[in-house]
Amino acid sequence: SLFYCRRYIVRDSFPQQIQFADQKQEFNKRPTKIGRRSLSRSISQSSTDSYSSAASYTDSSDDETSPRDKQQKNSKGSSDFCVKNIKQAEFGRREIEIAEQEMPALMALRKRAQGEKPLAGAKIVGCTHITAQTAVLMETLGALGAQCRWAACNIYSTLNEVAAALAESGFPVFAWKGESEDDFWWCIDRCVNVEGWQPNMILDDGGDLTHWIYKKYPNMFKKIKGIVEESVTGVHRLYQLSKAGKLCVPAMNVNDSVTKQKFDNLYCCRESILDGLKRTTDMMFGGKQVVVCGYGEVGKGCCAALKAMGSIVYVTEIDPICALQACMDGFRLVKLNEVIRQVDIVITCTGNKNVVTREHLDRMKNSCIVCNMGHSNTEIDVASLRTPELTWERVRSQVDHVIWPDGKRIVLLAEGRLLNLSCSTVPTFVLSITATTQALALIELYNAPEGRYKQDVYLLPKKMDEYVASLHLPTFDAHLTELTDEQAKYLGLNKNGPFKPNYYRYLGLPRKTAKPG
Ligand code: NAD
Repeated sequence: SLFYCRRYIVRDSFPQQIQFADQKQEFNKRPTKIGRRSLSRSISQSSTDSYSSAASYTDSSDDETSPRDKQQKNSKGSSDFCVKNIKQAEFGRREIEIAEQEMPALMALRKRAQGEKPLAGAKIVGCTHITAQTAVLMETLGALGAQCRWAACNIYSTLNEVAAALAESGFPVFAWKGESEDDFWWCIDRCVNVEGWQPNMILDDGGDLTHWIYKKYPNMFKKIKGIVEESVTGVHRLYQLSKAGKLCVPAMNVNDSVTKQKFDNLYCCRESILDGLKRTTDMMFGGKQVVVCGYGEVGKGCCAALKAMGSIVYVTEIDPICALQACMDGFRLVKLNEVIRQVDIVITCTGNKNVVTREHLDRMKNSCIVCNMGHSNTEIDVASLRTPELTWERVRSQVDHVIWPDGKRIVLLAEGRLLNLSCSTVPTFVLSITATTQALALIELYNAPEGRYKQDVYLLPKKMDEYVASLHLPTFDAHLTELTDEQAKYLGLNKNGPFKPNYYRYLGLPRKTAKPG
């Protein structure tokens, strides 16, 4: 089900750090039961994209005891948490402090919270990646007056030190890196099934937590004021529930908010494409010929970064509008066949399937690098390379050489899965936008007067999207111009926004409608 695969895949919003494929494969290779650590079902190839912290100060994998079997207390004597090792708290705290530097909006919200506590009385149960950035969000929610209990939405992604730091500062966190399927649900259950505490808000990333409450504790929805959901998958599921008339509380779709979309797709990819390529191949970009398939948000980001490094960039498109944009931006629009023999790098970002076929792969020149920035591993026909005449050589984590009988080799990155999520990090500032949007969505749903939101899925009001953006401006010492009364009247706008109609697309923003169907 949609819910099921979620916890193994990296999401549509972007986590901080990447786990090496080798480690993941190690983990996957254990089909036999080893107590609770075993997986109750096998994990699919495409669902192994995940990450953890390269900044992890210690590898605690040698400690085989399941956190569930350990008795741990924080320094205040509380044992209402379950993390790998509470003693790592100090290192986690440093990670959190580093993240705080790049999350100005949340820090600004905290300052404001010294006066008002818009989340006083809120009892938030959360299920997200547990990283330093999430910790900054949780601590902000705490400062705004909320009580939080938290589990991880991905079995690999928890930063153990950060989870420890949160537990040490009193947050009931139930998460560790390398949870089993059983652990995963156990942790979620420990968050919601508590004596004397019932959540009244849900913050979910992937829909698993929401699903669990629907399945096990449907009565809890009587007290729940709303759900905030971040992922494509989770949002899709909410729309399905809403369509079927089964959504029993209002839900906020954070995934499709304007600022988040722009940051996740355009700016994040612009920042991380070079990083992913460099870490895996050590290549120099100047003068290299690159073809980027798809000139949507992700493609635009990749092209801009490569152009800035002096690469010669070709673009392929199927949509004449995006194609024209590529031309106006100074890129040569070609068919893949026209350049496939000469290019040094092929990057797919179409969201489509079989954009790079075996035929293309056969015609590439020696040492051509092939990678994907699109959502799934369908864009490059990797399966077609698993034939007996081709030899696969793993040269590095996430880097395979595929060798043809005549000695030609191509360099395949992350086996065709998302390059930046598999091989690089995501800037904290990108996550700051998401986290701020989540915080504001929680505040909005929690404080909304009866009747403002029905049992349906909503986008964050445009005004709040504008607010998220404005909270990030001081970082750049940016000075926003205020409308004069006369100008506001002339444009028919409120001086305090919203400044654009809902249908405004902010040039190149994905055209997807928020509501399928
Ligand atoms: P988009 O719809 O804006 O762009 C995709 C473009 O590809 C479109 O313009 C479309 O016309 C074009 N296209 C489709 N089929 C094609 C083909 N066969 N050949 C050439 N062009 C083709 O979407 P987007 O926001 O740019 O996202 C693209 C993909 O990247 C999606 O799968 C998305 O989920 C994923 N994504 C990745 C990241 C990341 O960090 N790597 C971030 C956000 C989104």
